[in-house]
Amino acid sequence: MGLLLPTVGALDVGARIREALAPLVDRLRAAEVERAALAARLAAAERDRDRWRRRAEALKAENDRLKAELEEARRAAKRQAAPFGRRRRKKDPKRPGRPEGHAGAFRPVPDQVDEHIFVPLDACPVCRSPVSDLRSLAPQYVDDITPPPNPQHRVLCYHNQSGYCPRCHRRVESRHPDQCSSARGAAGVQLGPHLIALATDLHYRVGVTFAKLSGVIALIFGIVVCAATWARAARRVARRLRPTHLSLVAAVRTALVVHVDETGWYITWAGMTKPWLHVFAVPELLITLFAIRLSRGRDVALEILGDQYAGTIGIDGWAAYIKLPCRKGQCNGHFLRRCLELLEVQKRGAARFPHAVQRLLLAGFQAKALLPALPPADQAAVVEQFQGQMRGLLGGRIAEPANLRFAQHLRRHEDEIFTYLEVPGLGPTNNEAEREIRPGVVTRKMSAGNRTPDGAHDHEIIASVSRTAERNGLLLPKLLPGLLCSTDPHAILPVLADRPMPPPVAPLPGWARDNDKAKEKLHGTRRRRRVRRAGRSLGGPHPTEARAPPA
Ligand SMILES: [Zn+2]
Repeated sequence: MGLLLPTVGALDVGARIREALAPLVDRLRAAEVERAALAARLAAAERDRDRWRRRAEALKAENDRLKAELEEARRAAKRQAAPFGRRRRKKDPKRPGRPEGHAGAFRPVPDQVDEHIFVPLDACPVCRSPVSDLRSLAPQYVDDITPPPNPQHRVLCYHNQSGYCPRCHRRVESRHPDQCSSARGAAGVQLGPHLIALATDLHYRVGVTFAKLSGVIALIFGIVVCAATWARAARRVARRLRPTHLSLVAAVRTALVVHVDETGWYITWAGMTKPWLHVFAVPELLITLFAIRLSRGRDVALEILGDQYAGTIGIDGWAAYIKLPCRKGQCNGHFLRRCLELLEVQKRGAARFPHAVQRLLLAGFQAKALLPALPPADQAAVVEQFQGQMRGLLGGRIAEPANLRFAQHLRRHEDEIFTYLEVPGLGPTNNEAEREIRPGVVTRKMSAGNRTPDGAHDHEIIASVSRTAERNGLLLPKLLPGLLCSTDPHAILPVLADRPMPPPVAPLPGWARDNDKAKEKLHGTRRRRRVRRAGRSLGGPHPTEARAPPA
């Protein structure tokens, strides 16, 4: 009994313990079930999380793609030249011009001559000595028009003589003052200086394309000229105008204020490098210079203005000009446009910054008109005040990202915003340059730029001289014939109304460099083609045989 008791007691204790543990066991089991449920939920949540992560990644990728597309679309909208141009060009494009070895083409000898002009050789044109062994030369036919107004078609025939000058020890020829060439034989039928001058003006000032020019000249005068002939004539005109162009460059380098701008251009044979049309406009001298280069950088401004330029240039925020060594005035018109763009989107507090900038810039415009009446000390104080106010605006708290970007842009050009208040002759905007570049934009849209870098160089020379003459109230068709007939290769056209033309500067290196660059790119293509063509033309007529002079 005494033994049982503890047993009974032990059993009893065990039962009581089990009984006491039962709720704990239940709770443990419940916890186990709950843990399993939670583990399942966790796994489900993790799967969800992974799914969302993948979704977010996909959305981010799509967002990036759309952003890139939007950027591209925005750039395409701002692309100035050839917005519909091919993005990829042919690897091996066809060369311009007729195939090698083609039959020669010549201007036919005119059926009817309006005037025969005999040009006797009385003495040597160089040393005025009497000449011996006089001979008549082949006639030279000139298809020309009478000088405007009321130009009429006329055909002249020059009969020149040649003779031997014993002092110069060579044969010399007579030349009429209205003859612009001594070519005869195969090139003995030519376009006259008045016709070339009119065509040059129509193409480079009015903007008529070479092809349409042929139509216009045929319609008005009945003279048949193909488009390529105009291009070759333009090459001769550009060569004669080169000293005048370099003289204008010299004049621009002395100007107190030059407005600079650039726009996209197009040169078919320049490979994929994008050309730019730069303009340098001088309001005080009424000069407009164009430069077409395969660069939009400051090297073009340095080439035209020289590294010694001491004046002020008006510019439009284009980053390439930041490091130019001369004084700069930013176009306030561009800043105002930016203010207006911001005011369209900014509301309440965020609109305060663009509003304040706009007010300050417009107040500057009014101050420019009033400044000349003030004594110099007061003028300096006014300028100081404007600069101080801008500094205050830019130093304030700007939180909105678009405002911040604009403020950073202004900060970068802070010293150049009110330059126009200090420099007489510099306007608050760069409109002068933008106005002068506009005809270039029109020409680009009508003729799609130039075919070759050489053609682009002819274009910049002729367009510069033509536009400067126009601004000075002079007409190129009246000035040009005299230059074309001149025997002095260094002759300079007086295109500045009441100023002498300065001595020309040294030839500009930029276009020649561009020309080499373009030719280098095409070289491989050209050589391959030449080899192929040479193989094909075996047995055909030799190229020179096809070029016999006309009967
Ligand atoms: Zn002589």
